[in-house]
Amino acid sequence: MASSDWDPNYKNPGAAKARLTLFWASNYKIDTSKTVLDYAEKLLAEHNIGFDVYPGKTRTDKHTIQVPDKLLLPEDYNDLRLKMGAIFDDQKTADKRQRLPVIFCEFKDTGVGLTVLTRPVGTTTGSPWLPYCLVSGVINGDESVLIHEIGHAATNSPNHLPTLGNIMHDSPAKQKRTTIVKTQIQAIARCYFVR
Ligand SMILES: [Zn+2]
Repeated sequence: MASSDWDPNYKNPGAAKARLTLFWASNYKIDTSKTVLDYAEKLLAEHNIGFDVYPGKTRTDKHTIQVPDKLLLPEDYNDLRLKMGAIFDDQKTADKRQRLPVIFCEFKDTGVGLTVLTRPVGTTTGSPWLPYCLVSGVINGDESVLIHEIGHAATNSPNHLPTLGNIMHDSPAKQKRTTIVKTQIQAIARCYFVR
């Protein structure tokens, strides 16, 4: 990449908003959703990308999904996604005004955030859905959990960057994740849930 591709101060030209639909599972007890939402909004704003969450940053009964009171497992994710779609299905509308579904829930994984990626073309196993995100409430002081998952969802990629402090570094432990570089902003700006 050219050095300018790594510009951490790049601003997206024109108007664009990252559009999310939020859900909360009933097993989500420690509520840090506003913390991670505010942080994602702030970082995207620094690069001239707006933030539009539906129905809003506050948990609602309508957007709460009842699940057993235990950690969700990968085999539960498709059912969870179906229930999300039943509450708010923006993928069937004629104008394709799609949003990134994010569900705040507790699940069994080594990380506190997880993006379910779309299965590769030509394969038959894996998620048939556009990428969607699971975010735990147990964030251990890491506000960057959601913006990190937004990065995975925008690129339908599990890849991490070795650059400390970048939102796509795999760990916030060594350095707080604060930077988004030009190529990452460009990728976010053209992804399915930004318009
Ligand atoms: Zn990751």
